[in-house]
Amino acid sequence: METTLIDGKLIASNIRKEIAKEVEEFVQKGNSAPHLTAIIVGNDPASEVYVRNKGRACESVGMTHNTIKMQASTSTQELLDTINKLNVDQKVSGILVQLPLPQQIDSSAILAAIDINKDVDGLSNNNLGALLKGEPNFVPATPLGVRALLQRSGVKIPGKNVVIVGRSTLVGKPLSALLSMKSDAGDATVTLAHSATIDLSKITKTADILIVAAGIAEFIDGTMIKEGAVVIDVGINRIDDKGNKKGYKLVGDVNFESILSKASMATPVPGGVGPMTIAMVVSNTLYAAKLNN
Ligand code: NDP
Repeated sequence: METTLIDGKLIASNIRKEIAKEVEEFVQKGNSAPHLTAIIVGNDPASEVYVRNKGRACESVGMTHNTIKMQASTSTQELLDTINKLNVDQKVSGILVQLPLPQQIDSSAILAAIDINKDVDGLSNNNLGALLKGEPNFVPATPLGVRALLQRSGVKIPGKNVVIVGRSTLVGKPLSALLSMKSDAGDATVTLAHSATIDLSKITKTADILIVAAGIAEFIDGTMIKEGAVVIDVGINRIDDKGNKKGYKLVGDVNFESILSKASMATPVPGGVGPMTIAMVVSNTLYAAKLNN
């Protein structure tokens, strides 16, 4: 079987073009351009890259953005004070706190403090709870990106057996709620696997759509999937690569070569889910601007 590549870069670029049009119309009506404020605490290089990419994506659709950099020693209270100011700042449409936060900070308290109508990452208790109830407001960007990849690749979700490997609050859990939601873009029968799952391979082989977010390089191989499955690889892992001038390369949680010719469709890493996550942060920022208007 020929495996069709799902081009996340192209799909994300199309989505950004659609958002750019909507932003233009929004501004033409006399509104200010949607504005995203990101907060980074500490100097994690990966976090800086993610925030920079989200900022660039905002610019590419006509939105504005700024980044607040706080010291690694910042306390929970200091960060709460900053968020409270942004919550009432009418110029700010969306607030994003880049994770992970340093250990001394109570991440749950921080995420809970973000105004639910500015919470573009959708990770506050209120927004996660609304999603679980099937009444989504803001939905985390990666699950939204995975769903959009499937929809825009012509994959019908209703009635399908979906297996998600990984139950994080950022990816697996909200994705299981999204894809099992009563809706034309949901209605799947979802199995959520994790590190205590027994005989993972038996479970993954039941998947019409297999989504992997375990954070383990090339963890799933061709022997673990069903013939004709759609495979979405959320994982981003750095592995040593002396042939590469950076000294490393990025791989997913799926051994891509080994699923080729068995999967009907699959996402590459990089260029699959990653660009979609960024496009969905931008989409959520536009939604926030409209909500707060
Ligand atoms: P976490 O580490 O928070 O969660 C990993 C999940 O995988 C946990 O639920 C864990 O189970 C499960 N797991 C670990 N080992 C096994 C195993 N042997 N068998 C089955 N399940 C296992 O990771 P995230 O969800 O934050 O991220 C997952 C991956 O996705 C990472 O590579 C990350 O870099 C990437 N990512 C990519 C994004 C993108 O835009 N493309 C965005 C966000 C993340 P348990 O709960 O039992 O510990």
